[in-house]
Amino acid sequence: MSAIIGHEAIVRELRSFAASDDPPHALLLAGPEGCGRGLLALEYARLLNCEAAASPGPSLPLPSLPCGVCRPCRLIAEGAHPDVILLGPGDTLCRPRAGEGSHELHPDSRDIRICQVRGLIELAARYPFEARYRMVVIDPADRLGRDASHTILKTLEEPPGHTVFALVTAAPEMIIETVRSRCRRIDVHPVSRSEIEAGLIARGIDAAVAARAAAGCHGLPGRAIAFAADPALMGDRDRLIARCARVAAGLVPARLAHAGELAESWRRERSVVLRALDAWEAFWEERLRAAAVAPGPLDAAGPVAALRAVAQARADLQAQVQARPALELMLLTFPPVTLDADPEEEPTGHA
Ligand SMILES: [Zn+2]
Ligand SMILES: [Zn+2]
Repeated sequence: MSAIIGHEAIVRELRSFAASDDPPHALLLAGPEGCGRGLLALEYARLLNCEAAASPGPSLPLPSLPCGVCRPCRLIAEGAHPDVILLGPGDTLCRPRAGEGSHELHPDSRDIRICQVRGLIELAARYPFEARYRMVVIDPADRLGRDASHTILKTLEEPPGHTVFALVTAAPEMIIETVRSRCRRIDVHPVSRSEIEAGLIARGIDAAVAARAAAGCHGLPGRAIAFAADPALMGDRDRLIARCARVAAGLVPARLAHAGELAESWRRERSVVLRALDAWEAFWEERLRAAAVAPGPLDAAGPVAALRAVAQARADLQAQVQARPALELMLLTFPPVTLDADPEEEPTGHA
């Protein structure tokens, strides 16, 4: 069974790339986190290296590739292949240059630095240990610093024949155009709820859990798998949404306090803030649905503006705009909310 849920058309495309005489040496996989971008990069690595696909001709029909059982297929799936290199912010491959001062290790770096790209270029010039094609996954590629981007250009332009690159990003517009234009771009879209549900069930997950995880994951199989592995996360999500309701019903000081807490979290653990933004999105989407069915005073303009504000805040945070003003702006753009007296949410003691 493939590790990938959904994305059949993309996998077909990757198969035909890998089977061609001159496979693309740089992919740009663009889509939200959790949608399967990294797995697609690894699938391309398997297709390029699968022994069943080797010349003088594949021993399996194209749709059956990669075989999943040969040594390269297994090692890549296990994350143990010596020629699959993952490059992200941190100090992987750091190659300081003489005269750069005491080049401290930078494990907490926000960016992929030029010293890492130097290490990458050095690596790419050598032959792989055992792979036909080494795979370098750069994730998130939008964190390539300016100097790093310019330094990697030449390698993307004239790549060594035995190395392919996969640039993974949720924010392709943050990558400089000259780098983007040297990659084959693949947009990785959310997966349908039914496909995710079926994918989870095929992995042996309880049908009820699968249905709930698929419903709450916004089309992101990676998130659905995390939900299924730890259903408490789904409860966290419900709690987060309930909290959104309380903040939305509050006055300006409560909203600003909430923005302040999120900005503080952004410095320590970004995933907390990204989950909070997901919860806000879910909250406003629900209000939008309610507005669509309820005739009368509820109208759609408020939720629509709120959803735009969430998207803007997300983009601002990605673009490294200061977190606090971006989040304050979002909270203050939200329309006022009166909480309905929903009988299910009344503290009647049976919850
Ligand atoms: Zn194989
Ligand atoms: Zn360094």
